[in-house]
Amino acid sequence: MMLDAYPPCPNDAARLVALHAYGILDTPAEQTFDGITWLAQTMLDAPMSAISLVDRDRQWFKSHQNFEITETARSASFCTHALLSEHPFIVLDALADPRFSQNPMVTGAPHVRFYLGMPLISRERFVLGALCVYDTVSRKVVTSDQLHAMNILARQVIDTMELRKIARHDGLTNLLSAVAFRRTAAVEVERARRYGRQVSVTVLDIDHFKTINDTYGHAAGDYILRNVAAIIKEELRPFDIVGRTGGEEFAILFPDTDFDGALAAAERLRQAIAASPIAVSGTTVSVTASLGVADCRCGEIKSDPALAQADHAMYRSKKEGRNRVTAYASEPLSSVTAA
Ligand code: GH3
Ligand code: MG
Ligand code: MG
Repeated sequence: MMLDAYPPCPNDAARLVALHAYGILDTPAEQTFDGITWLAQTMLDAPMSAISLVDRDRQWFKSHQNFEITETARSASFCTHALLSEHPFIVLDALADPRFSQNPMVTGAPHVRFYLGMPLISRERFVLGALCVYDTVSRKVVTSDQLHAMNILARQVIDTMELRKIARHDGLTNLLSAVAFRRTAAVEVERARRYGRQVSVTVLDIDHFKTINDTYGHAAGDYILRNVAAIIKEELRPFDIVGRTGGEEFAILFPDTDFDGALAAAERLRQAIAASPIAVSGTTVSVTASLGVADCRCGEIKSDPALAQADHAMYRSKKEGRNRVTAYASEPLSSVTAA
């Protein structure tokens, strides 16, 4: 089947950014979600079920019962059809439906005939995927009780995802917390290793923030932190991963980005922060930041060494006068920003 052989989803780009913000893709199976799929297939008296999240080119299963596939091409997914409406998507007999009769999940294992997908609708009203049950025999009907049960269970999936999303984020800046950043970065690095892509890391620390706090007060300091976080988000691409890894320290993982690309992004960030005085307590405060950049080399790929290296380079930026970007290199470190 062709990759584009599925109906286009009108708001797919924004939907994908929303989906990735949950940090759930490519994470291990969990009892909470496996319990929900077990209940779904039991309520529907069906042999198979899944929680399918529809990524750009694939559907990925957070949970799957009684079939082995962990992901399929998006074109081969029933669930991508379930994205088009907030109503359940039902295929009573896949063999009789020209959209699915040649689908690899129908013509081969797991030999799907019946499909019911209950859309997983986020708080922002994006359909992220579907809670679905599959049967190997066609059906004539779906009862209202079955739909009701699926609706309740789909809400439980999304409520769990939403609560976890809140827990992953820092309350002040709404960036990822330090723990969530490390977890998400590790998943991203593993993905890069699998697909042979490059990722790079930047550490950013606000300069003389203690003095800013001492001069303008802690509340003003908080306000400045929120502003700097907003500038960072604004300057970066939607899929860059940004965390608040310390009080006034941030880390960014750039997917699909080589060392030079990350250096350019870091320099852009430095300039944007320095060029955006922040209005507090009846005055404007100029803020600068020191940054360090490292890349994760795909052979020895692990995000932690790169993060430590970026941190090391950031400290060199501090030592050499602050408000600058330093590239990590074994020795000597080179300062990228002109003084
Ligand atoms: P340097 O340029 O070397 O980074 O100096 P600095 O003053 O930024 O660094 P230092 O580590 O000495 O101080 C960091 C300050 O950040 C001290 C701490 O009170 C403040 N800070 C940490 N978390 C928060 C926060 O959530 N809100 C506010 N307002 N301040 C915070
Ligand atoms: Mg600092
Ligand atoms: Mg610091």
